[in-house]
Amino acid sequence: SSVQEYLQSQIRTIPDWPHKGILFRDITTLFENPEAWRKTVDVMVQRYEKQAFDRIGALDARGFLLGSTLAYILNKPLILFRKKGKLPGKTISVEYDLEYGKAILEMHEDTILPGEKVLLMDDLIATGGTLLAADQLIQKAGASTLEAAAIINLPDLKGADRLNAAGIPTYALCNFE
Ligand code: 5GP
Repeated sequence: SSVQEYLQSQIRTIPDWPHKGILFRDITTLFENPEAWRKTVDVMVQRYEKQAFDRIGALDARGFLLGSTLAYILNKPLILFRKKGKLPGKTISVEYDLEYGKAILEMHEDTILPGEKVLLMDDLIATGGTLLAADQLIQKAGASTLEAAAIINLPDLKGADRLNAAGIPTYALCNFE
């Protein structure tokens, strides 16, 4: 669609970062353009304003920006999924695979109530590993994920397929092949 093409045109691609052979999709150029950022937020608001859910879960760290904006506009509690060692309260954690090695994602143990529905937000879906880890923490709390939303999906890396196969619907504003 034209929104997808417009947003794609506003995202900068940086070759060989953080490793040789990676095409990094840089959304700082989206944040610097108020028209493009408003469009990004407006499309997300239109999608989620009529849906029933309890909390917005934002992923460390670029997911915080979209998650926080949506939480303000939709008047929802904002909860943070953070890399190991950043949250001050008692946490629950899950280990997940990265391209090289492993990482740990954490959530405050009392931040979700059993039975609640959480809308997850990150900037980008690559392998889907980060959002799957967040969903595991949500499940440990006895809650469930409404949908995993991102600005960008990289379909070649099959993250959205992995999430869908785990029962998590996905939504992205644009794809980069
Ligand atoms: P995944 O867990 O789906 O493999 O990777 C997604 C995570 O890595 C997201 O938290 C995202 O911020 C980060 N990421 C991986 N590649 C890119 C990229 O090209 N651009 C941006 N902005 N983030 C990326």
